[in-house]
Amino acid sequence: MKAKRVNRYYCDFCGKSGCSAYHIRRHEERCTLNPDRKCGMPECYTSPAELAEAVASIPDVKQFVHQSGDDLGDWEWFDIPNDTVAAVLADLEQRLDACPVCMYAALRRAGWAGMVREQFNLKERIADCWNEANRAEERARYGY
Ligand SMILES: [Zn+2]
Ligand SMILES: [Zn+2]
Repeated sequence: MKAKRVNRYYCDFCGKSGCSAYHIRRHEERCTLNPDRKCGMPECYTSPAELAEAVASIPDVKQFVHQSGDDLGDWEWFDIPNDTVAAVLADLEQRLDACPVCMYAALRRAGWAGMVREQFNLKERIADCWNEANRAEERARYGY
């Protein structure tokens, strides 16, 4: 039997791993937890400073933690009112030119990403963005 040793590479920011240094390096560049990330969305020009400001504008999640206890022990849960979520998303849209990936990066760094899954569907938003970019490209190419 032979054991084969393979290198595994890890993203410095989120811990995502892979066997290809190239892919992980590319991922790192765009990783939503990388404060100096380069955004890969079409026509996105968000700067690291703008992203940092957006992160700072999001209310601290700790404000929305509730604690309870029962016979089994103490537990806590998060509850962010819907209108607060809507206001935060509207504000991020303005700040980040509605780039879904930059918005997600800000939400993730603020610790919100897992709590607004219902209101913020990243995959759908990305798909919409690409559709729009493709349509604009077609219009430019074919002149309609
Ligand atoms: Zn990463
Ligand atoms: Zn972006």
